[in-house]
Amino acid sequence: MTTKQDCIALDAQDPLRALRKLFNIPANTIYLDGNSLGVMPAATPARVADTVAREWGTDLIQSWNKNGWFAMPQQVGNKIARLIGAGANEVVATDSTSINLFKVLSAAMNIAAADAPQRKQIVSERSNFPTDLYIAEALCQQHGMEIVLVEPEDISASLTANVAILMLTHVNYRTGAMHDMAAVTAAAHAEGILTVWDLAHSAGAVPVDLMAAKADFAVGCGYKYLNGGPGAPAFVWVNPLHTDRFWQPLAGWWGHATPFEFTPDYRPAAGITRYQCGTQPIISLAALDCGVDTLLAADAHGGMAALRTKSLALTDLFISLVEERCAAQGLGLATPRDHAQRGSQVCLTRDEGAYAIVQALIARGVIGDYRAGDGDRHKDILRFGFTPLYIGFEDVWNAVEHLRQVLESGEWQRPEFNKKHAVT
Ligand SMILES: *Cc1c(COP(=O)(O)O)cnc(C)c1O
Repeated sequence: MTTKQDCIALDAQDPLRALRKLFNIPANTIYLDGNSLGVMPAATPARVADTVAREWGTDLIQSWNKNGWFAMPQQVGNKIARLIGAGANEVVATDSTSINLFKVLSAAMNIAAADAPQRKQIVSERSNFPTDLYIAEALCQQHGMEIVLVEPEDISASLTANVAILMLTHVNYRTGAMHDMAAVTAAAHAEGILTVWDLAHSAGAVPVDLMAAKADFAVGCGYKYLNGGPGAPAFVWVNPLHTDRFWQPLAGWWGHATPFEFTPDYRPAAGITRYQCGTQPIISLAALDCGVDTLLAADAHGGMAALRTKSLALTDLFISLVEERCAAQGLGLATPRDHAQRGSQVCLTRDEGAYAIVQALIARGVIGDYRAGDGDRHKDILRFGFTPLYIGFEDVWNAVEHLRQVLESGEWQRPEFNKKHAVT
């Protein structure tokens, strides 16, 4: 049996413990939702204030050159590249995940149309994040293609000669289940299929090596594990094999080879720069830069390998404490026990009351979230993200203790916890 003292001892030995001070975690809060909106780094307010007051307020238009505004998408992209196994100048931080997905899927469709026009299907997972499916569906309508949705165990059987693109989210947002990117990509390539990976729940959370996996395209999110702030710019990576083959469809002036020649014709920039569209949100990029720097501060303490080791220890501890201390409370586990298949979150299921239990926990300062299910295969989920940069082992103990009390007392049945809010 693990005790609270054991958890406190684990925190004392944690090589990443010092990094917690780099964040402003509100008092009396155990924040288990960094997979949805990362905690604000302590350095961010001053950085954003400086961008506004000095760079914008004083230097004004000169800031595009003087303060490096124009190169920010590439500069922040280069930092993100280190987290995802991409090369220098292969990533830009820009636009949203949804928009970047639109660009890379379009490019992948163009490649498929040129190389294998008989292939008319995109395969994805039925429980992929909805925006990914909606963007794919919209593009399929434009390109006369079809989206095929399968369960994870059916992916390999679905990779047929009709399929152009396999579009997957590396770590599933609902269950925290992680694909073996290298193996899945190799299986797709063996059938002549391109791969598009969404790293929204991977970048900064688990080790990712796009080049080693020989992936084709990837996008990811800036406001989750990269701590870039609400609506932070996302990122996009294209394998250098493909980058220069086609325009991306949002061919704006920031993707032009020489935007300040203001020519009437479009000439795409070489490399990933062509994946930019228009003028970028500099204040948001400054906040994202700060978030990524805070994550890269882990490099001095063992980097992503140390983050991964701690993340697995936190999620293992949460699972075992829930099973010890909340046994017979009707909770199930939706997240794989196998480390190789687990991201940095744990999802519990319950036939009744999942939403209200999460609300009762939030009222106690334990912030997780709820995701609605749609049937037996995909049950309602209580979702808890564990960001190893700022979550400790004692936090895990305390969170499970709150969960135990909420369930044993029936506190979650109170009417105020059963009222649905617009954002869950
Ligand atoms: C969070 C998330 C997104 C978010 O897309 P936005 O364009 O930022 O709203 C997209 N895809 C996945 C898989 C996500 O987890």
